[in-house]
This record gives sequence, structure tokens and C-alpha cells, in this order.
Amino acid sequence: MLTADVVLIGGGIVGSSIAYHLTAAGCKSVLVIERESSQGKGSTGKSMGGVRAQFSTPVNIRMSLYSIPFYASFEERLGYPCDYRPQGYLFCATSEKHIAYLRTNYEKQVAMGLKNVQLVAGDEIRSRFPQLRGDDIVGGSFCSTDGFVDPYSAMTGFMSWAADHGATLLKNAPVVSISRRDGGFEIATTREFVSARTVVNCAGPWAAEIARMVSITLPVEPLRRMLVPTEPFDQFPHTAPMIVDMSNGFHFRPEARGFLLAWNDPEETPGYKTDFDPAFIEKILSRAAERVPMFENLEVNPKKAWAGLYEMTPDHHPILGESSEVPGFFFANGFSGHGVMHAPATGEILSDLILTGNTDLIDASLLNFSRFADGRTIHETAVL
Ligand SMILES: Cc1cc2nc3c(=O)[nH]c(=O)nc-3n(C[C@H](O)[C@H](O)[C@H](O)COP(=O)(O)OP(=O)(O)OC[C@H]3O[C@@H](n4cnc5c(N)ncnc54)[C@H](O)[C@@H]3O)c2cc1C
Repeated sequence: MLTADVVLIGGGIVGSSIAYHLTAAGCKSVLVIERESSQGKGSTGKSMGGVRAQFSTPVNIRMSLYSIPFYASFEERLGYPCDYRPQGYLFCATSEKHIAYLRTNYEKQVAMGLKNVQLVAGDEIRSRFPQLRGDDIVGGSFCSTDGFVDPYSAMTGFMSWAADHGATLLKNAPVVSISRRDGGFEIATTREFVSARTVVNCAGPWAAEIARMVSITLPVEPLRRMLVPTEPFDQFPHTAPMIVDMSNGFHFRPEARGFLLAWNDPEETPGYKTDFDPAFIEKILSRAAERVPMFENLEVNPKKAWAGLYEMTPDHHPILGESSEVPGFFFANGFSGHGVMHAPATGEILSDLILTGNTDLIDASLLNFSRFADGRTIHETAVL
């Protein structure tokens, strides 16, 4: 039987960041249990790596205000790279309604201390990116410290630092049941039994299965999300930001010598579907060529495209903190497509809550699980 003060179930970027923050705060006994033979087989390894502070709710903005500077200084702090590229996010508005929405968000973001965000005129966007079809672009917003990271490097950087400082990663160990024992927990894996005082659910899209092991019904649903990388394409600048077409949600960013294309297909339904649907190529390429006419010449190899799972909650905000029904059992779940960009803040918040019962980073009551029963959900509309 293994023993640890804190057991983190799931070794994706969220479990790894919590392991780092706990270890850095002096917690000597942290065990991460991962069912796969290596890290990154869940959502983290499938992510687009976008990081942004351009959100609509104060709590999401606050989490980005911690996380993005953290990524900017990742290598300095941890001694491992995360490949943060501050190329920005550019939202392109195609209606006055979009402009009003971006302005309201901009005012909130600036009031909360975001420095590098600005509203931009349609002409500015057209002159910076003449390759875009700009006749319907009425303006937008741009934040230069938004950008991209390499999720796999960030995840392994967090975990390696934690392991260098005393944490343990147990791989090939699916958790199959959790029992409550003497004020703590006994966790059964297919390899070992583990006893712990505190357990954190970091199982990404599989979070509801872990919660069910302690008889909690967690409203986290897997939702397939597909990404299409292009073959090398040099007619659009590779210094470009993540460009978001607000008319239909199509967005893209430079990736290697080509581009990475994304679009939220409204016809997608929840479920553990991780196969890539070849019919998606046609859907996304038509949206790409609509906004960037020269993208008609893009070459795509369907074999290189992939699918992963978003972990959706009803209000598109994560569920963080201790369960009131099962003391000692914590959630770090339901990031609704923002788990990479919010992993640093999540690590700090969970480490604070586990070690001291409090956090200064956010008002933790906003994101606790009880919000659903209490009718205190908070809606994020800036979801891509
Ligand atoms: C296509 C795509 C694009 C995305 N783009 C972005 C983006 O641009 N920016 C952003 O911030 N986020 C993005 N996301 C979301 C982001 O990837 C996730 O929110 C994030 O990776 C969640 O991290 P996690 O550690 O919670 O989950 P995961 O990385 O899924 O890790 C969970 C781990 O738990 C393990 N596990 C599950 N069950 C068990 C068990 N029973 N026992 C032991 N281990 C178990 C799994 O094997 C897995 O390794 C994207 C996601 C997808 C799919």
C-alpha cells in the first residue's frame, strides 16, 4: 500500500500544475496517478495551446491574469520550456452587436488590470491583414500578450519540476475505485492500493467517472473537438495572432510552416468520440476560404488532423475546490476548452485551498460545485 498526503487522479496539465504548485508550497507528499503509460494521452496532448485574457467574466479574466505572466516566466521559474509565443488574439467583429460585446469585455479587462488589450478599427485590421476578406469587418479587439504555448511541454515541465522536488508520478495505473477510510481515502488502482488524506479529481473529460466513485454526480460532459493542420503555406504571415472570425467562430493560428484551423461545429453532440470525422475537412475549409480567400489554395492531409475532448460544464466555467458532501475530495474539472490557459491559476488555487483552506487568487465560492445546486451559475460567452 502506497501512502501520500495528496493524491491527484490524472496526469494531464491540470494534475501536473497542481503537483508543481503543491510541491513548490512545501507539500512533501504528492502522488499523481495516471492510467496511461505516458502523459498527454488525454485532452492536453490534443489541445490548440491558445492562451488569452480576453474573456467576458471577471473570474476567467483573473485566472488568465495569473496564468499568462506565469507562462511568460515559465522557463525562468521551472527551468523547463513551455514555448510561450505572445503573438496575440485578434477578434474580428462583423456586427455592431459584436463591437458592443467586445467593448464591454474590454472595459472589464482593463479595469481588472489587463494592460495590452486594445479595441481596433476595421481599417486597422484590413491594413494589417489585407489577406482577410474585410468588407464586413467593423472592428475588433487585440491583446498582444495573448498567444500560444506548447501544452505538452508545459505539462511535462510542471510534472518534471514537481518530481525533481519530491512528487511522484505513478503511470499505467487506472483508478478503479475510491473508498472512504478513517477520515481519508483508499484508492484502488489496477496496480496498487494508495491511501491518502486528500484526493483531487484531475481526470479531464473522465472527471464524472471519478466523481461517481465517491457517489457524486458531476456535470462534466465530454464534447469532441477537431483540429485541422495545413501543409506548409507561406502566403500568410507566420507572425500572425490567433485570428477569430466572430461571424461563425472559425479561428486559426500559425503552426510550424502551416496553420492550425479550428471551428466549433454546432452539430457536435456530447460523448467519448475521439475519431476524426473526414467530413469536417470540407466544413472547415469552406469557412477558412470565406474569411481568407487565399486559403482556397491550402493543402490539407486528413491523416494529420485529429480530434480530442473538451470537458464541458453547464456554465462553461471550471468546478474548483472541495466537495461539501465528501470532505477531503477536491475538484479541478470542467475547463470547457480553457484548461491549458488556466492550468497555472488552477494549480495555485487548488494548492492554496488544500494547504490553507483559502485563496487570494479568486473568490473561490464562485467556482465551487455547490453553485449548481444553489443556482449561482456564471455564464462565459467568450468560448471558442
Ligand atoms: C482539440 C482541442 C483544442 C483545445 N484547445 C485549447 C486551447 O487552445 N487552449 C486551452 O486552454 N485549452 C484548450 N483545450 C482544452 C484543454 O486541452 C483541456 O481543458 C485541458 O487539457 C484539460 O487538462 P486536464 O489535465 O484536466 O485533462 P487531460 O489532459 O485529459 O488529463 C486527464 C488525465 O486523467 C487521466 N485519467 C482519466 N481517468 C483516469 C483514471 N480512472 N485513473 C487514472 N488516470 C485517469 C487521463 O489518462 C488523462 O491523462 C483544447 C482541447 C481540445 C480537445
